[in-house]
Amino acid sequence: MEFSSARHVAATLAVAEPGGLPFYAAQAGEVALFEHAFHQRLPLLIKGPTGCGKTRFVEHMAARLGRPLVTVSCHDDLSAADLVGRHLIGDGNTVWNDGPLTRAVRSGAICYLDEVVEARKDTTVVLHPLADDRRVLPIERTGELLVAPPGFMLVISYNPGYQNLLKSLKPSTRQRFVALTFGYPAAAVERRIVESEAGVSAEVAAQLVQLAEALRRLTDHDLEETVSTRLLVMAARLVASGLSLATACRAAIVDALTDDADTAAALAEVVAAVIPD
Ligand code: ADP
Repeated sequence: MEFSSARHVAATLAVAEPGGLPFYAAQAGEVALFEHAFHQRLPLLIKGPTGCGKTRFVEHMAARLGRPLVTVSCHDDLSAADLVGRHLIGDGNTVWNDGPLTRAVRSGAICYLDEVVEARKDTTVVLHPLADDRRVLPIERTGELLVAPPGFMLVISYNPGYQNLLKSLKPSTRQRFVALTFGYPAAAVERRIVESEAGVSAEVAAQLVQLAEALRRLTDHDLEETVSTRLLVMAARLVASGLSLATACRAAIVDALTDDADTAAALAEVVAAVIPD
């Protein structure tokens, strides 16, 4: 039994709005794959760089399938108890408090564990029985064994770019999931996303996507990550709100990507070449 009531798990419960799906521009067949996995009650692993649309895709699919969505952003202190739940003391009584994974199983929701490799290793103990044919969640501390209803689906994501040997998905975990690999969207799709998410003109969207293509080709700099669709949308929103394209790119792209002065200068050169002041 644990008596900590202070621990907080970053989790959001988003219920699909009737009629209004979150905007998602599909890349290639991922919508059909998700639907098949859902109907076959198979868990899904989505791999891809940060800001390429993984979360938006899951939000869109949950709404499309009419399922509530429980999202958990995993971090290195996230334990099995954070996911499953714990006993808390309130008014002198000890009460059981469901964690986000348990809530998702009970309500037949889609449970999305973002950056799952960050979580503590003990989380695999609860994820494995949910991710194979058993589809059960054993709650050790209450002795309950929850059987996941048909509407429940486990979706996990991680960014293979961040991987190091200590933080990779164990083969025994990986092999329980159907996998989907995301990259940045093709140029035409990315232009449509930037236009629609930020409300900028087709011309501004085209310039930003052209810049992204040039920056993504840079390989000889010490960049951990390159420019994501998310950063393009942020730059476009600054433009929509009245900043010049060059200033927006400096703030939302160059300075967001690096702290290193030499790398920033190299990125700024690419920006200046594609987007004149
Ligand atoms: P990830 O989960 O891969 O880190 P997100 O799904 O949060 O990335 O995407 C970041 C932002 O980029 C979204 O909020 C959205 O504005 C935009 N975006 C990226 N890909 C798409 C897409 N395919 N359709 C619509 N918006 C997208």
